[in-house]
Amino acid sequence: MLDINKRLLVIGAHPDDCEYVAGISLKMKEVGFEVRYLMATNGASGHHELPGAAIVNIRKKEVERVAKLAGFTYEMLDLEDGRLTASLESRDLMLQAIRRYNPGVIITHRPFDYHPDHRATSMLVQDCSYLLLVPNICPLTPPMRQMPAIFYMQDTFMRPCAFRPDLVFDISNEYDKKMLMIHQHQSQFYEWLPWVEGMPMDEVPQDDAARLGWLKATHWGQRSALYAKLYRGELVNKYGNMGQDIQYAEALEACEYGRQLSKEELAEVFPL
Ligand SMILES: [Zn+2]
Repeated sequence: MLDINKRLLVIGAHPDDCEYVAGISLKMKEVGFEVRYLMATNGASGHHELPGAAIVNIRKKEVERVAKLAGFTYEMLDLEDGRLTASLESRDLMLQAIRRYNPGVIITHRPFDYHPDHRATSMLVQDCSYLLLVPNICPLTPPMRQMPAIFYMQDTFMRPCAFRPDLVFDISNEYDKKMLMIHQHQSQFYEWLPWVEGMPMDEVPQDDAARLGWLKATHWGQRSALYAKLYRGELVNKYGNMGQDIQYAEALEACEYGRQLSKEELAEVFPL
């Protein structure tokens, strides 16, 4: 029996980023893991009309609703959205937050990503990894005694290197709940993101149920379907012929700096 803390910490740059792996998080919860979302920034830049403090408070409530819906806990670091760097100050905050939760598994962004905050978050997690165990760094927060296994969430960026799907997951059973979780980020998916992408705003439905249907049809809603197509070969390797028909998927790549798990250990930690 593998000795690992049954706690998953998903570390996203922004309040809605952890939903990239909501399906995997729900699956982990189902097999007995506690799940926490940790956001590196407060989300202050995620709106075109509302000022920082107003949007931060709205986004905090949105995350609260997601956490309640999924049975997760969450923590938001009060670092400025859009201006995150892998500084010593940010590293200390991140290190303390990880240590306090003492996770066995961490999932975060890859360091190759369009958003500077996503890249910085990934760097911060990498910079923290070894130091999690070093007692003289942030000595008032007790060091972890076991290195967590660290994974990157899937993305489609190609340079300087593409995502490598070491682990793939059929999330078809979790898809509806994942979308309901994403739906809670109302200020993002029905206001900010359509605006920043230049969509005609009158295309966004006002009615709650209509919104969810619309969201599922957008490229945000269809992302999990895209991953199922991209990782079809890996899905068939894992699930056999059934893999051909899997509609929605997520995937992880192992980070070299975390605890390295053998194939057998990975099978013990992760659900099907
Ligand atoms: Zn983000």
